[in-house]
Amino acid sequence: MKQSMTFIPTLREVPADAEIKSHQLLLRAGFMRQNASGLYSYLPLAQRVLSNIQQIVREEMDNAGAAELLMPALQQSELWEESGRWYTYGPELMRMRDRHERQFALGATHEEVITSLVRDEVKSYKRLPLTLYQIQTKFRDEKRPRFGLLRGREFIMKDAYSFHSSSESLDEIYDGLFKAYSNIFTRCQLNFRAVIADSGAMGGKDTHEFMVLSEVGEDTIAYSDSSAFAANVEMAPVIAGSPGTDEQSEELERVHTPQQKTIEEVAEFLKVTKEKLIKSVLFKADDKFILVLVRGDHEVNDIKLKNHYNASAVEIASPEETAKVLGVPTGYIGPVNMKGEAVILADQALKGLVNGICGANEEGYHYTGVDLSRDAKIDSFSDLRFIQEGDASPDGEGVIKFAKGIEVGHIFKLGTRYSEAMNASYLDENGRSQPMIMGCYGIGVSRTLAAIVEEHHDDKGIVWPAEVAPYDLHLLSANAKNAEQAELSEKLYKELRSKGFDVLYDDRQERAGVKFADSDLIGLPLRITVGKRAGEGIVEIKVRRTGESFECSVEELPLKAA
Ligand code: ATP
Ligand code: MG
Ligand code: MG
Ligand code: MG
Repeated sequence: MKQSMTFIPTLREVPADAEIKSHQLLLRAGFMRQNASGLYSYLPLAQRVLSNIQQIVREEMDNAGAAELLMPALQQSELWEESGRWYTYGPELMRMRDRHERQFALGATHEEVITSLVRDEVKSYKRLPLTLYQIQTKFRDEKRPRFGLLRGREFIMKDAYSFHSSSESLDEIYDGLFKAYSNIFTRCQLNFRAVIADSGAMGGKDTHEFMVLSEVGEDTIAYSDSSAFAANVEMAPVIAGSPGTDEQSEELERVHTPQQKTIEEVAEFLKVTKEKLIKSVLFKADDKFILVLVRGDHEVNDIKLKNHYNASAVEIASPEETAKVLGVPTGYIGPVNMKGEAVILADQALKGLVNGICGANEEGYHYTGVDLSRDAKIDSFSDLRFIQEGDASPDGEGVIKFAKGIEVGHIFKLGTRYSEAMNASYLDENGRSQPMIMGCYGIGVSRTLAAIVEEHHDDKGIVWPAEVAPYDLHLLSANAKNAEQAELSEKLYKELRSKGFDVLYDDRQERAGVKFADSDLIGLPLRITVGKRAGEGIVEIKVRRTGESFECSVEELPLKAA
């Protein structure tokens, strides 16, 4: 591609409202432009990177036995009513009406659509397992779209869904996709960890997030360098103290099938008095813990807790005071992490403990508490342990480290959450009707692009890993007015392309300095400069990542570039 014919509007200045490097560099290097908050146009270079990432995703998904399809982004509300999520998903779901006043949503995710598709077509165990995926634009009206492509309101996701007649079959596909995800992020040259996302009611191994370690990540993960242990701190079981987000409570809603327990049962089970339990709803605002004294007897679940927000008398309580009211040792309120939030983590061995609930009320106060509505298996508080940076590993190896992570992928064992609600069943070997067992698997494709830039850049610009780079080579002539250089450049441009290289050829009538600066900013793996020695058939190759450069004859060039 000749640079004069494509569209790469580079900027010299750092855009004022772009806080993080990937956002700044993608704007400066002419990869994207913002249209409105959380909405971006991907310009030609970004489009090429996206298609490279998608190619990797397709290869690995196909290899894991998944088949690609494409579903509508526009989804009728009836499906979401069937699953119940029309009422629980909240304002992140973009809703709209057609000309007949029928309600629709713009797809934030596709469990409903795929479940209805598969239930109508698959009737027998013989057709299972079945794994389908798509790569598509998703819409979420995020409360705080920010950091460029990391949190958009319109973004590209690869989402996959699997259907099974046994949990063993789900385990097998899940493991296969876990490997596929590891391959995908390895090929994208990302420093990532697969972390336990929530070791709640479905056990500790049933959902993993793929986290790119990065200072700008919005999640905190605890991991060990010398063992496989890694968990998302904020999704781990919580008794009190760790603030959550709306998304997390949605997440929990997605994973869990609520099982109501009476307050007496839970009090007995937690070995605290009923009175104490009723008082045990904690809020966290800024750096203060707020203990909300909820009055009266009620069945507590997170939706009902929300209704108590305004009615409650609010007192500020320290972790110590809170512990006192709850009648538990202060330690159970948890240590405080880097953000000043209390953190309680249960390790893999303690799976299936009391589930934390988390969410936020209308004023943005975060709450956490004991989840009383779900099936919990803890015997006593002494079964819980809290993990801090520097602690030994839950699996007996290494030391716990905390790090910030960017969630680029997320895989889930859904079980029968959707198939039961939406009546997706099959006939087993004995002709009996059974709900399908499901899994779902997401990758943020556009977020992955930004995560790559976040990890691969220097002070001059982006440094693309070869497999996702928009082009292999950046070819330019130092002096475009020099006929000898122009001629050799044109010749090399044709030759290199015929040898299978993707070449970006800077044929613009710009000063060498401008071309070099743009070239560093754009960050292709190799730059080939046709300069003073063009007449002798000698050009310069510069490796973007290391900065090393060497001269090479035109004949040797294809070999050296490869
Ligand atoms: P987050 O916790 O960052 O809000 P999520 O848990 O809500 O993400 P999932 O529902 O698990 O997201 O969706 C699958 C993947 O889609 C995520 O792992 C992430 O990579 C990507 N993703 C989610 N929301 C966004 C967004 N607003 N912009 C870009 N990518 C996103
Ligand atoms: Mg998440
Ligand atoms: Mg979210
Ligand atoms: Mg997620």
